[in-house]
Amino acid sequence: MSDLRIEDAKRRADERVSEAAPSLIALSERLHANPETAWQEHQAAAWVATALEDAGFAVQRAYLGFATAILAEYGTGPLKIGIMAEYDALPGLGHACGHNLIAASAVGAGLALLPLAEELGVTVRVYGTPAEEGGGGKIELIEAGAFADLDLAIMVHPAPVDVAEARPFAVSHSHITYEGVSAHAAAYPDEGVNANDAFLIAQLALGLLRQQLPADTRVHGIQTVGGFAPNAIPEHTEGRWYVRANTLEELHRLEERVNRCFEAGALASGSTLRIEPESKPYAEFRTDEQALAAYTANAIARGRVFADPSTAGRMNRASTDMGNVSQLVPAIHPYIGVDSLPFANHQKEFAAACVGPAAERALVDASVLIAWTVIDVASAAASASRSDGLGEG
Ligand SMILES: [Zn+2]
Ligand SMILES: [Zn+2]
Repeated sequence: MSDLRIEDAKRRADERVSEAAPSLIALSERLHANPETAWQEHQAAAWVATALEDAGFAVQRAYLGFATAILAEYGTGPLKIGIMAEYDALPGLGHACGHNLIAASAVGAGLALLPLAEELGVTVRVYGTPAEEGGGGKIELIEAGAFADLDLAIMVHPAPVDVAEARPFAVSHSHITYEGVSAHAAAYPDEGVNANDAFLIAQLALGLLRQQLPADTRVHGIQTVGGFAPNAIPEHTEGRWYVRANTLEELHRLEERVNRCFEAGALASGSTLRIEPESKPYAEFRTDEQALAAYTANAIARGRVFADPSTAGRMNRASTDMGNVSQLVPAIHPYIGVDSLPFANHQKEFAAACVGPAAERALVDASVLIAWTVIDVASAAASASRSDGLGEG
């Protein structure tokens, strides 16, 4: 494509998003007002599916057998583009990660690219991917065969500020259970095995371990069951713990050390320990440099301002199952700011910032920037195949 044709395609994508903006904002607000947690996103999946179907996409609901996954597809071009729509909320916090904006901007980008699919030579797919906030929906979809033929996987995630290159962590999610023996806490305490003490020892050991861990790792969790009665020795306790590191490999080494802290709790208290993964581990992110460069240039052209590195680095201490997609196919996962500082993802104030003027600007810009980036990637692919003599572009 000539520069002129690229500019023209981008102008049309922009216009299409502007036309659709009121309905995209309405979709985002509807998702925000009806938060559904991992694997329960029935309304969200249905609303996203309907919006794409109405626009002309062929939609598979319950994609690959997952009730809240969808695949919407349009076009037959050789270059296959996958736009990810996450739509799960956080337990107790609503849309405090702004996935309402991810879903609505994926729809917006799909709408913008649909009329351009043929001239760009792309197949446009929008995937509704459940359970990013724990559950690893994209990992389950990968294992069922999704995404493997994509030339680019792309999504834009809300954050306090704009950050082009995401470098999310690898993370594992474990469910911890201790079993002890219940006994009357006053009359027969010596008959008991205290499964709550096991957590106390484990947390103490983890706290001490932290000072020996590399600064860019994270270990954090919550105890979810501590006992049932103050006058009975707790016989059953549970918790949920995450471990994060730069790579899956480093994560596995770190997990061994973390697990020994839980074993210490079992040993000291006499309880028995069970550690079970809640989902498969999320991989670290691998960025496609060409698509990232296109996104960055487009964002600057649109007047977005990227955060300075000291602020930007913090978002990259998070993790995403998009990391696993990025290990399989070229991918980018930029963050778009909703102007929420000092508040950030997973705070209720951030949920509040995921509707309103700054969120609407982020939604419209993210829709346009995904479309513009796809236009650049498609035109580069077309000129590469022309110069290879493999096609006409
Ligand atoms: Zn989140
Ligand atoms: Zn998120």
